[in-house]
Amino acid sequence: MSNPDDCRAKLVVANRILAHENVMDAYGHVSMRHPDQPDRFIMSCSRSPELVTLDDLMEFDLDCNPVAPDDRRLYGERPIHGAIYKARPDVQAIVHNHSHDVLPYTVSRNLALRPMIHSAACIGHELPVWDIRSRFGDTNLLVLTMDHGRDLAQRLGSNAVVLMRGHGCTVVADTIEQVVMRTIYLTVNAKLQLATLPYGDITFLSEREIELSSELHFSSVSMSRAWEYWARRSGM
Ligand SMILES: [Zn+2]
Repeated sequence: MSNPDDCRAKLVVANRILAHENVMDAYGHVSMRHPDQPDRFIMSCSRSPELVTLDDLMEFDLDCNPVAPDDRRLYGERPIHGAIYKARPDVQAIVHNHSHDVLPYTVSRNLALRPMIHSAACIGHELPVWDIRSRFGDTNLLVLTMDHGRDLAQRLGSNAVVLMRGHGCTVVADTIEQVVMRTIYLTVNAKLQLATLPYGDITFLSEREIELSSELHFSSVSMSRAWEYWARRSGM
């Protein structure tokens, strides 16, 4: 079992990396399931990811209540995390962000985000779009209740990514390193797909190519090399 202190340190690094790689700005959050208590998750109090430190990390139950409440402000969209950890026992880490590169795919019916480069194979074959309005009517688009969270988790299904109409996306994975890699290459693929679009038909990865490339990029050799690079660039 992973050492909880190492996991917390890694979660801080994940926040810094995603901020530094321009996936997250003032908003967005990263969480991990508690390594020893699967009915809890760990996430920062409400701070911009670039500023998160070990002292900001708090534990929550899967209904998103803080285990040791204090006077710190909390992220309003905690239900994204609690509801997905409840629905998907396999998920160990979650990123929610409002990446500008991904947003066009959340609002255009004629644009489907699909992996077209080997390094982005890990985003998976299917990227469903969730529209909060379908079930909840007009809202401020944020996932603020467990009902919202459950509906989002249902749309995510067994996929790795769910796009959120006019809002952003949520990415899940088996480890904190994998969720960071998947989130970074989701934005890279999104940007490149838009850049390629004016030149005609795009050749996307086949299902088998997606499997083989994901295996390669999630291997420990590839992952540790990328993690060291991103962490160093982020100043950690
Ligand atoms: Zn959001």
